[in-house]
Amino acid sequence: METQTAKTTSDVNEAKYPFELPKLEYDFDALEPVIDAVTMKLHHGKHHQAYVDKLNEAVEKNSDLQDKTLAEILSDLDSIPEDIRSAVRNNGGGHINHSMFWKTMKLNEGGKPSGELAAAIDSSFGSFEDFKTKFNDAGVKQFGSGWVFVVADGNSLKIQPLPNQDTPLQKGVEPIFGNDVWEHAYYLKYNNRRPEYLKAWWDVVDWDAVAQRFERIRTA
Ligand code: MN
Repeated sequence: METQTAKTTSDVNEAKYPFELPKLEYDFDALEPVIDAVTMKLHHGKHHQAYVDKLNEAVEKNSDLQDKTLAEILSDLDSIPEDIRSAVRNNGGGHINHSMFWKTMKLNEGGKPSGELAAAIDSSFGSFEDFKTKFNDAGVKQFGSGWVFVVADGNSLKIQPLPNQDTPLQKGVEPIFGNDVWEHAYYLKYNNRRPEYLKAWWDVVDWDAVAQRFERIRTA
């Protein structure tokens, strides 16, 4: 089977069937103590792999979709036959969301955004602290499973919570970054304490990777 490996955060948008689990570019314990190794191993190797497998299973039945990139597929869900639409929405979203997630994390040792990204955060939310508070609040309020994304309209940033594996790409908007608030992302270490996970997660945001995505997306 010929596969296409996503090497950068944008490659996965351009990937076509058959889809492939991107390699994790760091060890499972690289984000400890914020995210434990067992959670990382299951999250990447089991949960993400399952999204990829089920997406391939759905797209295997539809040769039209096999010619499209994942971003094209997800931004035009209405055109997908009803019998596979939910599978493509959930598993295609799961694949693209997690591919972004892995590539926008590393232990940042208290690091903060800088440059254009920091300026955009300040002008959109008042301050980095206010931004984190609003983001965490959106994460706590997301009922059940979902994500909290940050999207950009030029230099104006917005927090966008979405349920399940939905992605802003369904409306043609690529997120800058986001946090996974499904229980599988935090339950082993934080149990039901999602607010604690949300607060701790800022220590594993790779601000350089986020800044690169911001630059690419806002100038696209
Ligand atoms: Mn997840």
